[in-house]
Amino acid sequence: MALPPAVAGLLGDEAGELLAALGQPAPVSIRLNPAKPVEMAGSPVPWCTQGRYLPERPVFTLDPFLHAGAYYVQEAGSMVLECAVKACGLLPDGAVALDLCAAPGGKATHLAALLPGSALLVANETDPARQAVLTENVWKWGRPDTVLTQAAPEDFEALGAFCDLVLVDAPCSGEGMFRKDPHARAQWGENLVETCAARQQRILESAWHLVKPGGHLIYSTCTWEVRENEDQVQRLVDRGAVPVTIPVEEAWGMLPATAGVRCYPHRVRGEGFFIALLHKPGRGPGEAIGRLGPHPGNGTDQLPGEVVPWVREAETCAAIRREDVLYAVEARWEGRVRTLMAALRTTAPGTPVARYKGGAWWPHPALALGGRCHHRAFATLDLDRARALAYLRGEALPGTDTDGFALVRHGGMGLGWAKGAGKRWNNLWPAAWRIRMR
Ligand code: SAM
Repeated sequence: MALPPAVAGLLGDEAGELLAALGQPAPVSIRLNPAKPVEMAGSPVPWCTQGRYLPERPVFTLDPFLHAGAYYVQEAGSMVLECAVKACGLLPDGAVALDLCAAPGGKATHLAALLPGSALLVANETDPARQAVLTENVWKWGRPDTVLTQAAPEDFEALGAFCDLVLVDAPCSGEGMFRKDPHARAQWGENLVETCAARQQRILESAWHLVKPGGHLIYSTCTWEVRENEDQVQRLVDRGAVPVTIPVEEAWGMLPATAGVRCYPHRVRGEGFFIALLHKPGRGPGEAIGRLGPHPGNGTDQLPGEVVPWVREAETCAAIRREDVLYAVEARWEGRVRTLMAALRTTAPGTPVARYKGGAWWPHPALALGGRCHHRAFATLDLDRARALAYLRGEALPGTDTDGFALVRHGGMGLGWAKGAGKRWNNLWPAAWRIRMR
């Protein structure tokens, strides 16, 4: 296999080393969820507090902790996002962060772990099929005050300068994935690079509008093409964006780039990645300044009495009801979330906590997995690995005199729900998330 000409030209004498590295097996790495501590044997990824290299690739599907959101399988190079977020400095109290191209959720769950608890995270994905995967991953990760949207970048422009931090992890020509993904190699071509560069320019145009003065934009791709990386960043710099250094240690092997760094598998233990950090000068207003303006909370939706005990710190939450699903979000965010709902297709305006079904409220699968779930409000079924796998396959659980809802847990972590049916517990794990592997 030959390298794309521009990449070979850029690397000069090092091109042969990159080719050799692309012939080696990719390292296996995960990122742990700090909100769901679990023991995993592995060595640290130096640029990411929760990143770990694993000695070998386990059968991830057969680990209930993966399904509980205790970790995310992610290539290590892209975890340098942590250095970029830290370089933004302290985000203001009540910051809004948007991941504009979020599926399947690697960076969104990483942001979820890095942002202060007081921040609102919006994870957006345009593609409906990919949005389903994003939803699953975000709900399993379990961070409260995370909103899911499904909109084109230009749809966000009505919001004006809404965000303190915007992440654009753009669709790209995927050269950095050549080692892990044969499809990335097969589909590569000059036309693809040109198409991607034009699309990235459009996405960044919308994204830059969204950044508050004083805020930051992080731009990343998993390709090495200058047209998709430095050229895109330079266009924003020409419009007043200020490049910010992403502090990385020399020993990590990353190469400096305009406003950012590049990772290559022959230098960094991971795949190919480019990341840049830009600052928008000025002082940020506290509120959205778009055409829609700030939206008042309407205060009309409330958590019903039977749901209140299920939700931790329910008294600080606003409830947003849409059709038969009830969502909870920190009360300070209600206005902002309703602004999003007015402007965009918002598929989850907060943590879904309950669904109205057959004349009663049922706890939502996302509640079991999330930080808002009050475990003590429920009977609990603590399952060992074998029984947890049976549950994740959709099997009913044995029981006697079972009644009401029980929270199914593994290692103390909420997994999902079971409903008492007298002599057994019926399985409420979502059918779409079931393990099919034996
Ligand atoms: N950030 C994700 C992660 O870390 O898991 C990966 C994002 S992937 C590189 C780029 C995403 O952008 C894809 O999910 C793709 O569907 C989406 N996308 C494609 N075209 C887009 C467009 N015109 N505007 C916004 N997003 C787009």
